Amino acid sequence: MQMLLLLPGDGIGPEVCAEVRRVAAALTPDIVIDEAIYGGASFDAHGTPLTDDVLARALSSTAVLLGAVGGPQWANAPRALRPEAGLLKLRKEMQVFANLRPALCFDALADASSLKREVVAGLDIMIVRELTGGVYFGEPRGIETLADGQQRGFDTQVYTTGEIERVARVAFELARGRSNRVTSAEKSNVMESGVLWKQVVTALHARDYTDVQLDHMLADNAAMQIVRAPTQFDVLLTDNLFGDILSDAAAQATGSLGMLPSAALGEAGKPGLYEPIHGSAPDIAGKGVANPLAAILSFEMALRWSFGRADTADRLFAAVTRALDGGALTRDIGGTHSTTAMGDAVIAALG
Ligand code: NAD
Repeated sequence: MQMLLLLPGDGIGPEVCAEVRRVAAALTPDIVIDEAIYGGASFDAHGTPLTDDVLARALSSTAVLLGAVGGPQWANAPRALRPEAGLLKLRKEMQVFANLRPALCFDALADASSLKREVVAGLDIMIVRELTGGVYFGEPRGIETLADGQQRGFDTQVYTTGEIERVARVAFELARGRSNRVTSAEKSNVMESGVLWKQVVTALHARDYTDVQLDHMLADNAAMQIVRAPTQFDVLLTDNLFGDILSDAAAQATGSLGMLPSAALGEAGKPGLYEPIHGSAPDIAGKGVANPLAAILSFEMALRWSFGRADTADRLFAAVTRALDGGALTRDIGGTHSTTAMGDAVIAALG
């Protein structure tokens, strides 16, 4: 039995997840959908953003789809119990080390980008970001007081061969199903971890992926190239810190946050974690105007990478494209469609 665990979360999360539920009912009625509270909603009900019960259900599902977490009402909750802490715990427990963030510019939205139409038309980048290592997790870290009374903050950027290899393998495998090109971005000119990153990616390529074109690029140059000529990239492989920044820059090139899905994958056969890249958008929550496409496209990625249904994913992707081409646009992308009207348009376009 294939099972999707929906964790709608907070703010606009429940609104966009409701549209995923309706699309799934129309497209894949055989996929069982379980649903649970999580994030701030769970903190209010159970005193924790992620209960052990929900974590166990996540680990035994085929895929987990999140809405969004957080909001000003939980800003003063203890750090370890904030809604965002539930998200980090979920990622850690599910051991999802490869974050896939497509940056894709739909033709109907090329004018919504902050870049010129001719720069973004046809944009289709897949950013593969290492998600569970690097400077966000490295030890030692902290803030200490020095003898002279100053404070000193420090973090550790650290990667092992195995951590680099497993995420690079995901990037090479993905490239084979796309345009067969990987650009690996690091700072090997100034960082030891960057030197190792480049060596390991080069060695893996020589060993198993010589059919894929591999280029190396310094991460600062990659940032510049993303806003100068983003269509040069196919798969962009990078670490946790640089991936955080480069994927946000690439996202902006595509128009709206409300359009962008993501996937986080671990070892083959383990459940994947899918989520829109946007947050809980407290400024529009409850108004029925949120764009549900990032959530719907996250479900599309789940169909492709966790449910093994590439054909169904293609069908859903085509329906989203048709809906946009047909003028279904929410407020963030220049239209007046409500959240449910956008869901209706996608369902109608499934044919
Ligand atoms: P946000 O992504 O929630 O909102 C940024 C802007 O984009 C807002 O103006 C919002 O209205 C708009 N927007 C976002 N999603 C949209 C959609 N689907 N349709 C239309 N417009 C959309 O970021 P923020 O305001 O910085 O953060 C709000 C809260 O969300 C914070 O508590 C933050 O911690 C949390 N957050 C959660 C996640 C997550 O769950 N993974 C990610 C980012 C932020």
